[in-house]
Amino acid sequence: MAAAGLGWGAVRLKRRLGQSERERRRATDELNRRLSELLSVRELFHVLSGSLHVDRIAEQVARYAMRFLNAQGALVALAADGGSGGRGGGGEVDGGHGGGGGSGGAREGGRGPLHVAAAEGALAVLRGQTIGAGDPGLVARSVDGERIELLHGSEGEPTQLVAGLEVASAAAVPLRAHGVLVGTLVVADPRDGRLDGDDRQLLSTLATQAAIVLANARFFETVRHAKDQWETAFDALSEGIAVVDEWGRVRRANHSLAAMLGAAVPAVIGLDLGVALLGEPRPLLDVLAATRRGDLAQPRTVRSGQLGRTLRLDAARIPSPADDQSVVVLVEDVTDQQAMEAQLIQSEKLAAVGQLVSGVAHELNNPLTSIAGLSELLLEQGELGAKDRGHLRVIHEEADRASRIVRSLLTFARQGPGEQAAVDLNDVIQRSLVLMAYDPTLKDVTIEKDLAPVPEVMGDRNALQQAVLNLLTNAAQALTANPPGRPRLIRVRTWFDDRVRMRIADTGPGIPDALLPHLFTPFFTTKEPGQGTGLGLSITHSIVEAHGGRVALERSADGSGREGAAFLVDLPPAPPEAPRPKTPVTPLPGNRFSRA
Ligand code: ADP
Repeated sequence: MAAAGLGWGAVRLKRRLGQSERERRRATDELNRRLSELLSVRELFHVLSGSLHVDRIAEQVARYAMRFLNAQGALVALAADGGSGGRGGGGEVDGGHGGGGGSGGAREGGRGPLHVAAAEGALAVLRGQTIGAGDPGLVARSVDGERIELLHGSEGEPTQLVAGLEVASAAAVPLRAHGVLVGTLVVADPRDGRLDGDDRQLLSTLATQAAIVLANARFFETVRHAKDQWETAFDALSEGIAVVDEWGRVRRANHSLAAMLGAAVPAVIGLDLGVALLGEPRPLLDVLAATRRGDLAQPRTVRSGQLGRTLRLDAARIPSPADDQSVVVLVEDVTDQQAMEAQLIQSEKLAAVGQLVSGVAHELNNPLTSIAGLSELLLEQGELGAKDRGHLRVIHEEADRASRIVRSLLTFARQGPGEQAAVDLNDVIQRSLVLMAYDPTLKDVTIEKDLAPVPEVMGDRNALQQAVLNLLTNAAQALTANPPGRPRLIRVRTWFDDRVRMRIADTGPGIPDALLPHLFTPFFTTKEPGQGTGLGLSITHSIVEAHGGRVALERSADGSGREGAAFLVDLPPAPPEAPRPKTPVTPLPGNRFSRA
């Protein structure tokens, strides 16, 4: 018995020893498994931290999740960027058994579809697919919860992962970082169809870390994309843009700025922008200082002698970091724009003059026609003396000339072209001098002519005569102010290079450069009331321009104009097939200025 009792004891002891041996072995296996998981997790985080590509990270997460949980498949589905999120990190286990519905509460009514960025093993078929927010499966539902959800059919019932795809069991955990939903991590058929506490802990750790790395990678991609967009816009702008340091040295520049400076972008970096653009640093430094103080109310327009252009400088401070003195400078070339604005103002003024002129011209037309008609009638009567006849002829010619002027002014006011025919400018000058011969202001004035043969110009003879008369009249009036002893001389010269050119110069008091901006402006006059209307030069300007020409004051050497005034006119030569004038030009009578 004793032996039998001993035998039973030994058997029990042996059994117990065997049991504890098995438990020890199981514990050792478990420990080894956990250790290898821990090492794998470390390995995974090492891999993840080395990448900033969302898809690659998603792939690694899915692959490691499958391995850790000994699952048949795994996927990472990502929410559209900026998906709203809940209270923070996915983690706590809420799942149980038996195919229960989604738990954790639906909080994301407005969320969008999920994109399967990575899918491994049995779930590989889902890679690249989009899962709509209304999909009845676990994947779509899981992002509404906060915790791990484990589903497995209690009586071998399959679990729906997405519409049309079922697995025996699955676990899903939403990925959230900084309160923002990133996506969801799903494993299919994990070990034994169930997750113990350690498995859940592992999945939770994996999800938390993966969410952070994915969110960072996404943020990085957003920033990189924004940077690409910004750089493309920076280079596409037609305005020059530079980022400069506190001394105005270029840190970055776009293509337009480099083109303005006639260099490639790399060659511009490090240049003093003020010196490169304007030849001196001061104007830009002033703009930078005003920008830093926050009182650059409007862009500054600066003339660059260096580039021969007018530039508009605007600037904005880069707000952060606070100790960075960098400023973004916008450089716009406004040379052409300013010229066009000036032209527009001039045209508007001329349009106003045109209206006035046409009103006056209409009023003058009838009395002038009467004077011309009646004087002609009188000339036909035989009983007039030679002297009276001479005076009457002058009255008739002048009335005729005045009528033509009025007609040409009407044409000018209508902006329509006058008669278009070949005109000899020298002939126009000669005729103008004949008409002026009776002008009392020309008493004691010497007129020198130097008229070279020039090609004909195309246009309206009367209008051109008006332009020449205006310049001659101004010259004659200027000479009346000459003190005794100063010569009273008007020089008229014509020549041809590529254009038909005329210069009318006088030895009067001249015109200082300061008057230049106003000279061709309607109603600008320095003359006494009753002496000048201020219309002569603006009408001359319009007539010459209408003929495709230009009129300009010749700049005096010292800008004072003391040497007298000289106006230059140039006109294009008429084309060879230009029409002849419809009204034949009567030959010129001899005149008292023919001294050339
Ligand atoms: P107005 O002769 O009626 O004043 P204009 O448009 O012809 O009008 O001329 C504008 C101004 O330009 C004149 O008032 C005068 O100051 C100046 N000017 C024009 N021509 C001469 C000239 N030859 N010499 C000096 N000043 C001139």
